[in-house]
Order: sequence, then C-alpha cells, then structure tokens
Amino acid sequence: MEKNQQQFSLWYFIIAFFVLTVFQSLFFAPHVENLTYSDFKSLLRTAQIEEVTLGTQRISGSVSIKGLEKVLPPEKIKRLEKNLEKTDEGNPVHRFTTIRVDDPTLIQDLEKFNVRFAGQVESTWLSTLLSWVLPAIVFVGIWSIFMRRMGGASGVMEIGKNKAKVYIEKETGVTFDDVAGIDEAREELMEIVSFLKTPERYRRLGGNIPKGVLLVGAPGTGKTLLAKAVAGEAAVPFFSMSGSDFVEMFVGVGAARVRDLFARAQEKAPCIIFIDELDAMGKARSMSPMGGNDEREQTLNQLLVQMDGFDTNKGVIIMAATNRPEILDPALLRPGRFDRNVAIDRPDVKGREKILKVHTKGVTLSKDLDLTAIAAKTPGFVGADLANLINEAALLAARKEKDAVEMADFDAAIDRIIGGLEKKNRVINPQEKETVAYHEAGHALIAMFRKHADPVAKISIIPRGIAALGYTQQLPTEDRYLLKKTELLDRLDVLLGGRVAEEIIYNDISTGAQNDLQRATDLSRHMITQYGMSEQLGLVTFESPRSPSGFEMMSHSQKEYSEKTAQTIDEEIHVLLSQSHERVTKTLNKKKAVLEALKARLIEKEVVERLELEALIKEYDTAV
Ligand code: ADP
Ligand code: ZN
Repeated sequence: MEKNQQQFSLWYFIIAFFVLTVFQSLFFAPHVENLTYSDFKSLLRTAQIEEVTLGTQRISGSVSIKGLEKVLPPEKIKRLEKNLEKTDEGNPVHRFTTIRVDDPTLIQDLEKFNVRFAGQVESTWLSTLLSWVLPAIVFVGIWSIFMRRMGGASGVMEIGKNKAKVYIEKETGVTFDDVAGIDEAREELMEIVSFLKTPERYRRLGGNIPKGVLLVGAPGTGKTLLAKAVAGEAAVPFFSMSGSDFVEMFVGVGAARVRDLFARAQEKAPCIIFIDELDAMGKARSMSPMGGNDEREQTLNQLLVQMDGFDTNKGVIIMAATNRPEILDPALLRPGRFDRNVAIDRPDVKGREKILKVHTKGVTLSKDLDLTAIAAKTPGFVGADLANLINEAALLAARKEKDAVEMADFDAAIDRIIGGLEKKNRVINPQEKETVAYHEAGHALIAMFRKHADPVAKISIIPRGIAALGYTQQLPTEDRYLLKKTELLDRLDVLLGGRVAEEIIYNDISTGAQNDLQRATDLSRHMITQYGMSEQLGLVTFESPRSPSGFEMMSHSQKEYSEKTAQTIDEEIHVLLSQSHERVTKTLNKKKAVLEALKARLIEKEVVERLELEALIKEYDTAV
C-alpha cells in the first residue's frame, strides 16, 4: 500500500512533465519560428528584423513576413500567416528564435540596421523544469531503489512506521501437547497461562505477575514453540517479532518499531509479545568495541521504557528467547523486566522419545519401528533436529516407494543429519560421550563423598552451549557467606574430581578439564593471597579484592609484593593443588566400582538425579 503510493508519486512527476512538454509544443511552437543563425544573419542584413531580445544562449525577436518568405518554403509561410503580429507601424511580423553563436559583429550589425535590441537572462519554466525537477526525479528514483536493496523501509513515508514484520496470530493453535520433552520449562509457564486466562483472580489477590519471561536455550530447542503454546493454551493473540528486525540502519527506526509494537499489543490485551533473538537488540550497551551503536542503544532504551511503562494487570506478557543470556544488557534482567528466567535444555533420551512421538503422529511407521532406539541414537539432537530427522526419513522411504517408514530409513537419515551437525560441532561421538561420563561422575562422586561439599542435585552429559560437554549441578543447602578452609579444600577436590577420574581410567586427560583446572587454580590463589590460609606465608593478604566489574586485568597488575613472594605464592598454589590431587586420586581409586556404575548409568540415561545417585552409591559402594 505504502509502496504503491510512492510509486504513484513518481509517476505523477513523469506524467506532469510530459503534459507540460506537449502543452508547450502545441500552444507556443506555432507562434515562434526556429531559424538557423545564418538565415537570421541574412535577414538582419536585408533589414527584415524588427527587434530582438538577446539571451545568453538564444536570440528571439520578430521578423517581417516578407523577410521570412525569402528563407522559408511557401506552404510554411501560409501556415504562419495565421499567427502574425503587427508592429506599431502596422507591418505584419512573426516571432522567431535562433541559437546564439559566438559572433563578435552581431552588436555592430544590430546597430547598423537600426534594430531595437535588449538583453535577457534566460530562465524559462521549461529550463527550470529540465535543470531542477528532472534531476530530482532521477535522484528519488535511485534512492528508492537503494532503499529497497537495503531490505528495510523503502521510502520516506515508511520511516518510523512498523513494516508488517510483526506476526500476529489471533490463535496460534499450538497447545502444550505439541511440546514434548521439556517438562520443567512447560510447568514454569503454566502459571503464565492461568494468569492470562483469569487475570481477575490474580489481581484480586494482589499477586505479582511477571512482566517478562526470558526463555534461554540452544537454537531449535522449542522456545518459539513453547511461547506459542502459552498463547494457544490461554487463547490470546500472539505478537512476534525478531530482535534483529528492530536493529535498523536509521537511528530511531527501531525505537519507533518498539513503541508501535507495544501500542498495538496493548490494544489487543490480554496477549503475548514474543521477541525472538533478544540478544540482537539487547546486547550490553558498552560491549560494542567501536564505542557504541546509537541505533541499538536507542532501541534497547525504548524497550526498557516500554516495559517499565505498562501495567501487567492489563494482561500483556512479554516473552523473549535467547541462546546467549550472558551478553544481554543487565538492565534487561532487572526486576520488573525479564525477571523470570526459564532454561530450556536439550532433551534427554526420554525427552527425545516423547518429541519423536509427537512428530510421528501423522507419519505411517512400520510396525517394528522402535522410537526408543532412535532416541538412544540421537544424543545432542534438539526438537528441531528430530522434526527434521522424521521428515528426512519419510522422504527417503517415499523415494524407495515403501508403504511405511522403516528403521533403515531412520538410520540413513540419522547418519545424514549427524554429518551436518558434526560440522557445526553439535554432536559428540560415543568415545567422547564416555569420557564426559567418567569426568562428570568424578566430580559428582567427590561431591558426594566430601563432608563439606555441596550435595549434587543433577548430573548431565547432554552437551550445553559451546564449551561445556556436561555438567554436575550442586545445590548449596543454605546461602553461605563465610567459608572455612576445610570447605574450600573440599571445593577444590570437587573441581579436580573430573580430571582425576579421566586420569585413573585412561591414564590420560582431555582438554575438557581445562576450565576446571582454571577454577581450581583461581580458588587456591584466593585462599593463599586473600584469605591468608597459607602456612608458609601466614596471615597476610596480598591482593585487594578484585572489583567485580571486569577491570581485573588492571588491578591484577598492581602487585603489592616482591618477586620472591610471588614465587612463594606460586609454590603454595602448587602444593595446595597437588595435595588435593592426591586426596582425590585416593578417594576415586577406592570408589572405582561406583564410578563405573555411574558412568554406565550416565551413558544410558544422560541425566542422573540426586535420588538415583544416592541409590547407586548404596548399591555399589563396597568400600565403606
Ligand atoms: P527455537 O525457537 O528454540 O529455536 P523452535 O521453537 O523454533 O526453536 O523449534 C523449531 C521446531 O522444532 C518446532 O516448530 C517444532 O516442530 C520442533 N520442536 C522443537 N522443540 C520441540 C519440542 N520440545 N517438542 C516438539 N517439537 C519441538
Ligand atoms: Zn569438569
């Protein structure tokens, strides 16, 4: 619509131009005869010219009709006779024009033949049109092509308006039944659904409804799907837009879009606003190395203003998705903004099986097809990968003209998809999986067998993000502000547990332990230099606590001790670490049976929770 309008105005210019040109030639041309300069000169010399106006480029004037008869053919003269003018003396004359050429004797001739003459600066409407309007038209044309190329708004009239990249769905039609394998996240969002359904109930009780919910998870884990399901379950409209759509090249456009989105959503409340790729617009403001991006900052500020400005009681809930929460501007995560954080993990074996079930509903499967087996073969796959897998397998079966999709088709499709994913570093091979299982089992067992370590809540070997291949989650029993040396030593042991487990089993260590070692070194350095826990160095602190703001490199260089002390510190760190290493090796060697059992369980199930771990220890720990 807007595009048409703009094209229309362009046509308008062109048509007007042609109309004027035609008009000019129809009404003015017959009155004026174009003469060659030589004809003009000869008419001048034969005293037929009555008067002239000298322009810088043209000469115009009137010539007696008798004179014209000498230079023009008779039939033309007949036509011209209709448009004759009369001089003061009553002689019939005709207007003429000619191009002015460089002629030094012109003025002399004019004076000689007694012709009245005057000068004129030429600026006719036609030349104005040609010299100003035409270039303007060309400029506008080029500009609009350029704008369209940029893929953004395509003209003056659109800047600031929200191009319909907002997807509005009155009814998403997606329900929680369509989302499988991510039950924890689903449960957390149930509350939002019930709020959207019966806002009065919450309002009456004065409950605090979250404004913003941030879904954090790898691409394809079902964040968008889950947001749509919330809208679908609550039967409210779903407004969605991608964060990258807000970041435009023109300063102010993104901010205007944010304003517009919120205004539109508030009209339709209760509803859900979903912003995909929040990190594209919500990157921390100071993180840009070039010193700042005005446009993004304005857009982000506008988002913050809008989030603060509206009242949740109206029933607008903002959901956003990101796979990089760590780069978000902290302002986005403050209370009253995206203060609810829902983590969406990659699905485990059971979860993958459930997702496969959901997506194979409309697919004809052969009777002996075993979804459990497929789930076991696809570690690291996310929901989107599994949906893709089923599609590939169905296509392969169709190509072979089978009546149903068989296991062989799935195997072929798995190989194909894994090939693609391996390139993106997203799947781990069985050998790596075993290594990760031993490593995490090592951390977990040390945490369980050290009196002062935080108990284990969950162990997982599902890859997460880029760096971590697995993780062991410990839950502190209470918030701690003071830690004793024994507790810190136990922490050190837990950190080394993974690496030592790998050493014991393989006599070798992998690069996966690097982060652990870094943290262990940091911890022991703190113990020695800040908490005064070293026997040799005693009750001194050598470093002022580092500022948490990221200026660590600077404060690190302000050493307040000598080279010799530095050497002693390094030695002491070494002692702490090697003593810990020795203790952990001893423990794990004693608990090797449990280590093996836990590793096997991890490979089988990928996730082991606390209760299961405790049962496992009871069963296999013979060395008590
Ligand atoms: P994200 O937004 O996290 O990148 P999407 O929600 O766009 O992922 O997921 C893409 C597709 O993958 C979905 O449309 C759905 O078909 C499938 N999918 C992903 N996760 C799940 C899941 N947990 N259950 C069922 N299908 C899923
Ligand atoms: Zn580790």
